[in-house]
Amino acid sequence: MKTIPHCLECGIPVSWGVHLFSRRIYGHCLCIKDQCMIQESGATGQVVDLYLGLKALGIPVVLRHYDGKQFADIALPDQLYVKVKGPCSQGRNQITSDLFGNIESGGRRLITVLISHSTLENPVTFELALKEIAKICRKLVKKKVVTGMKFSFSPTQWQ
Ligand SMILES: [Zn+2]
Repeated sequence: MKTIPHCLECGIPVSWGVHLFSRRIYGHCLCIKDQCMIQESGATGQVVDLYLGLKALGIPVVLRHYDGKQFADIALPDQLYVKVKGPCSQGRNQITSDLFGNIESGGRRLITVLISHSTLENPVTFELALKEIAKICRKLVKKKVVTGMKFSFSPTQWQ
């Protein structure tokens, strides 16, 4: 049985022609509408790669988020902002040059990740950055879910 590909963004079934095209351009399966959305967002290739990488890991991030005060290239709204900075500088592709910190935006505390284009250009440091950000996002998402379900227990809590 042939599995029908589905759009990573909206989950609708995607035709094989569109799927193959999308895989070649974006590395992931996207419907035509979402390919256009990404194209029109004006995000750089590196930002799009990281965004789709996080999405593929099941992290509910948004691309190019603005909360009225702060802008993020990629965001877990109200929780974590990723800002990809600067032009692609050669030789500075170490993840240690990137910063993790906290900012205030509209009275809320947000985790910010400042990351350089060059970190995302290198496949090795890209993977490291992707894993690191995904790890933080998972913790944040979990925390939100747990506090929202104060009085119920799931079997996973006992493991
Ligand atoms: Zn879609």
